[in-house]
Amino acid sequence: MTKKKILTIPDPMLRKISEPVEEINKKIKNLMEDMLETMYQAPGIGLAAVQIGILKRVIVIDLSKTGEKKNPVFIVNPQIKFKSKDLVSYEEGCLSIPNQFAEVKRPNSCVINFLDYYGKKKELKAEGLLATCIQHEIDHLNGILFIDHLSKLKKDLILKKAKKQKKEIDRVVV
Ligand code: ZN
Repeated sequence: MTKKKILTIPDPMLRKISEPVEEINKKIKNLMEDMLETMYQAPGIGLAAVQIGILKRVIVIDLSKTGEKKNPVFIVNPQIKFKSKDLVSYEEGCLSIPNQFAEVKRPNSCVINFLDYYGKKKELKAEGLLATCIQHEIDHLNGILFIDHLSKLKKDLILKKAKKQKKEIDRVVV
């Protein structure tokens, strides 16, 4: 497992649409393991392949808390079969938009079909945080970021702050 660099806004790659995986081979398994390692070290609870620059429809999620046994979920080619009408809001962040958070309303539950690490077809009914995390990551596969769900005012504010933060980091590096 190798830790990869996580792309951050305004990297144009983050706006691209990821391609379905045709076959879960060694290369895709290596990708999933690299993604998991990258996510654990960040640390984060979800990561889409595009965030490390690979345009494949692959997601890793692990909602286990610090100190708990790790519980990675590998999701390949997810398709949303159902989204509930009732919404829930969570304060969301994103490894590709460091240190910025905002409340996002999304369906409280969803059902997805996907392929697992072994290429087996699975169905998952998710609720609450897991449902939010899955929807956030599937958005990434479609070039959508959580800030796209905010009002223009809030989105612009976050973009401005992220830009300023990037400049400050550059200054320290230089
Ligand atoms: Zn994200």
